Amino acid sequence: MGFKAKARKHKADSGNESDVEKKTAAKEGEISCGIKSCDGYADKSFGGRSLSIDNAIDVWGDGGYSERKGRVRVCKSCYRKWKKDNKSEDTY
Ligand SMILES: [Zn+2]
Repeated sequence: MGFKAKARKHKADSGNESDVEKKTAAKEGEISCGIKSCDGYADKSFGGRSLSIDNAIDVWGDGGYSERKGRVRVCKSCYRKWKKDNKSEDTY
């Protein structure tokens, strides 16, 4: 029964419990983007990716991200930003 709800870090400050949405319609992810200046979600369903630490340092600098098991989970838009900055790897 809803054990996954524990993963939510959102606090309901309105106290409006009846307004809590079911998981099917949720727009929130469970994995937050590893980039500190970003509050997107890095879930696969959101198009999130994981980058290596070196990749993250290249774009966001040392300390601009938080790592997770040696990888940095990034949201879709951060991934695109990284890809832009690494065009050389993307050209054929
Ligand atoms: Zn992001």
